[in-house]
Amino acid sequence: MRTVAVHRDAIVITSLMWQTNAVALRAGDEAMLVDSPYFPEELEALAGVLAGAGFAPDALLATHADFDHLLGRVAFPGLALGLAESSAVRLQAEPGAAQRGLRDHDAELYIERAKPLALGELQALPVPGSVELGDQELELHPAEGHTVDGMAIFARWCGVLCVGDYLSRVEVPWISEGGALADYRATLARLAPLVEAAEAIVPGHGAPHDRETALRLLEEDSAYLEALERGEERIRLPKGRDSKEQQSIHAENLTRV
Ligand SMILES: [Zn+2]
Repeated sequence: MRTVAVHRDAIVITSLMWQTNAVALRAGDEAMLVDSPYFPEELEALAGVLAGAGFAPDALLATHADFDHLLGRVAFPGLALGLAESSAVRLQAEPGAAQRGLRDHDAELYIERAKPLALGELQALPVPGSVELGDQELELHPAEGHTVDGMAIFARWCGVLCVGDYLSRVEVPWISEGGALADYRATLARLAPLVEAAEAIVPGHGAPHDRETALRLLEEDSAYLEALERGEERIRLPKGRDSKEQQSIHAENLTRV
């Protein structure tokens, strides 16, 4: 688990699993944690790491309802988890799916956990919308397409934009189960002006970006999706995102267009 400060009031904690990012944001005397690390040891250490850095959270948020982003409550069982309404609807429509996804992935990596995942109290948040954090507010913007649900979270006062599973240096656009190409493209179009207004852009997986890097990825990802949409036979994946694993994501995308 790596910790990096992207602003005085924002730190990014990166899990060793898929470089999954959790982001702690603070304003006034309040802090919030967006998404989560993955390994049991990371989740166990998380409260200490955040408290030590002055980011002990008062609430949890998740960018979307994929299991790898939902583990905040393992570290903070007393806190409520806020999600986009679309994510709450998805969790209700497929009860136990997040738990099953986690269990299956744990089994693949031979990971044992003390307890199964309990999501506890969920707060469905209207998106677009906002939530208060101390004397500031976090903007919530719809971000669908990778999955059927999701939101980007913009801490405009400190220029930190948490986009969820978009704009990653380590992953091609992934239209996963429930996702849709048109929604994905609409999300990229919606993210563009937010990226322009941000200083640090934190993807769900992989290192945070400066604005220029995020805009370059946005262009690459739009071009890739356009090629998918045109039904091009041989699409070259962006440089650095063309491993066997990324090819298999690409193959999955082809089944969804
Ligand atoms: Zn993810």
